[in-house]
Amino acid sequence: MSTILKEIELFVQYAVAEDMINQAITLVNQYQHDRVALRLLHEFYRSLPEAREEPVSRLVQIDSHQGVLLLGVITANFEYLYLVTEREVVFLGEKGTAIENEILSFFGYTGQDQFDKACLHLQELEEYRSETRLGKMKCPVCSVLEGELHQLGCPVEICPWCDGQLSRCNCRFDQLGVENIDVEEDLLKFQQLLAAKGRIRFIREQAPSYPRAGNTSIEKGTID
Ligand SMILES: [Zn+2]
Ligand SMILES: [Zn+2]
Repeated sequence: MSTILKEIELFVQYAVAEDMINQAITLVNQYQHDRVALRLLHEFYRSLPEAREEPVSRLVQIDSHQGVLLLGVITANFEYLYLVTEREVVFLGEKGTAIENEILSFFGYTGQDQFDKACLHLQELEEYRSETRLGKMKCPVCSVLEGELHQLGCPVEICPWCDGQLSRCNCRFDQLGVENIDVEEDLLKFQQLLAAKGRIRFIREQAPSYPRAGNTSIEKGTID
């Protein structure tokens, strides 16, 4: 951990003007115990987007899914988008840049428009903090974190049309206007309809073991 901190400090010396160094280091130190944030700051100051010599003023979390974070890096005059995991940092570009469809659908966006809307006010998004991630409950079946989309087919996911259990209700047939789904095409079409309607993200109240009235047909899972 200390090696990466030292490297970042070194990059900072070259990356920003002298009177900005303290500001840059203060933010780095705030994240000194957060490997994900340090990787991102390391990459930022190592490669400095567009060679603009501005320190990071905030890191915000736009989205997260299955351990992959979509983070915004905000400087005095610019906003950048990064994909970050424990192992890897990928620079996506400046805010507004076209994002690959594969990435958009991974995070559950129907397309660039919906994604751009989510990024419209980066400044107002919650500051990225690792504690937020650590305090979150995992879906007991598919292991995504609170606020994330379930893995498709997860029995905990709630149907946005009927509020029932998405893996069991009949909405897929109603939406497609078919009696059975036995071709891949129908499944893909349903996924598109579902994304357009807006999938319901996991919140702890959906976990089968969460105390509430009534019974559920979902098996009780373990929560860690
Ligand atoms: Zn799930
Ligand atoms: Zn339904």
